[in-house]
Amino acid sequence: MEKNSGPRGRFAPPIGSKSFNLGRPTAFILRRRATQGVLVQEVDDGQPCLMCRDKCTGYISHPWRKTCEVCKCNREVHDVFHREFVNVRERLGLGDTLGRANKEICLQEGYTWVPAGLTSEQIYDYMSCLPGHKVPRLGTPGEKARERLLMLQLPKQDLALPYTRHVEVQHHTSFKDFITARNDIALDIGIVNPSLDRGQDCSGCGDVIPRGAVGVLAPRIGDADIWHPSCFTCTTCNELLVDLVYCVWEGALYCGRHYAERLKPRCAACDEIIFSGEYTKAMSKDWHSGHFCCWQCDESLTGQRYVLKDDHPYCIKCYEAVFANSCDDCNTVIGIDSKDLSYKEKHWHEKCFLCNKCQVSLVDKQFGSKMDKIFCGPCYDAQFATRCDGCGEIFRAGKCLSAFACVFSVF
Ligand SMILES: [Zn+2]
Ligand SMILES: [Zn+2]
Ligand SMILES: [Zn+2]
Ligand SMILES: [Zn+2]
Ligand SMILES: [Zn+2]
Ligand SMILES: [Zn+2]
Ligand SMILES: [Zn+2]
Ligand SMILES: [Zn+2]
Repeated sequence: MEKNSGPRGRFAPPIGSKSFNLGRPTAFILRRRATQGVLVQEVDDGQPCLMCRDKCTGYISHPWRKTCEVCKCNREVHDVFHREFVNVRERLGLGDTLGRANKEICLQEGYTWVPAGLTSEQIYDYMSCLPGHKVPRLGTPGEKARERLLMLQLPKQDLALPYTRHVEVQHHTSFKDFITARNDIALDIGIVNPSLDRGQDCSGCGDVIPRGAVGVLAPRIGDADIWHPSCFTCTTCNELLVDLVYCVWEGALYCGRHYAERLKPRCAACDEIIFSGEYTKAMSKDWHSGHFCCWQCDESLTGQRYVLKDDHPYCIKCYEAVFANSCDDCNTVIGIDSKDLSYKEKHWHEKCFLCNKCQVSLVDKQFGSKMDKIFCGPCYDAQFATRCDGCGEIFRAGKCLSAFACVFSVF
């Protein structure tokens, strides 16, 4: 007997080239399995940030935000990878009856994932329908794109309690009920029909999928609907549904993340589903009440005044310490309760924006500046204005409107 020596060429003999039974798609609906089987092995510790490159010395998780302690970027923009070959059934806790065999086929065909039950040729046909950079071919950007989609669409903290950090004990039952209900009524894996026996309109784009072409079915929605492989996307994020995993909500397709968000709020800080009835709404987002905090010092902002800067909330103290300018006149910080008036890199409190000579307020008035000081019109003219040799008029603050006419009168 010859031993299998591992992954080789793409054209290995096809395994399981099943005949297709369009009449009974429900037979493919996943059997619910206990969720303790969920297995996610993502490696994020010390991984470089793809946004700030050298500025980040490697991912360190914030104690509760889904961001990096070092660079403050989101976790998913770091080069997080999966320790093991990802079998999406394992990730979802749906058992591994097809998993091992599927891994062999994937490696033989040169992909990190292939739809179940297809021949080499059918896999090739299916992959040719996808945008090139989304094809999960081993060692290509498509492989990375798939890993990223797995993290985003099927976030581990949505899959099993051990991957959550902020579901309080009194909400553990709600969490488990949520997972069970989702797996029972909404979650499933799409099926590829490698060759339609009649032309049908795509439920995504409405264009016809011709007879003999590849289509994707979603048994949870019913066998009347069929999609182009590239149209099998989430209604909210419009991304290709990773590994054909979809959830149904009101007859539409969603990824796991956005299905959950149709039913529950998600905390914008820790990225976990909120099971508590009490939470904070701010900046058009939802937050665990203890997680709506200053981006700088992590103090809670629930019930506090805060300032928005670059889409992040800051407490007043941090905002003034980090961003506020000093007044050129009185040398104290221009806090959020005063207007910050600025001219040529200099800043003033509204109450300090005065003529350097007569102390009249220059707010909403014309002013002149000389040697780093500001003056009202009359004080400026009295001290610095030069009169035009031609007409005798003053050059106001360097701007004599009749300058051109005067130049001519000199001749
Ligand atoms: Zn980082
Ligand atoms: Zn970064
Ligand atoms: Zn379509
Ligand atoms: Zn989505
Ligand atoms: Zn949170
Ligand atoms: Zn703060
Ligand atoms: Zn001042
Ligand atoms: Zn003055």
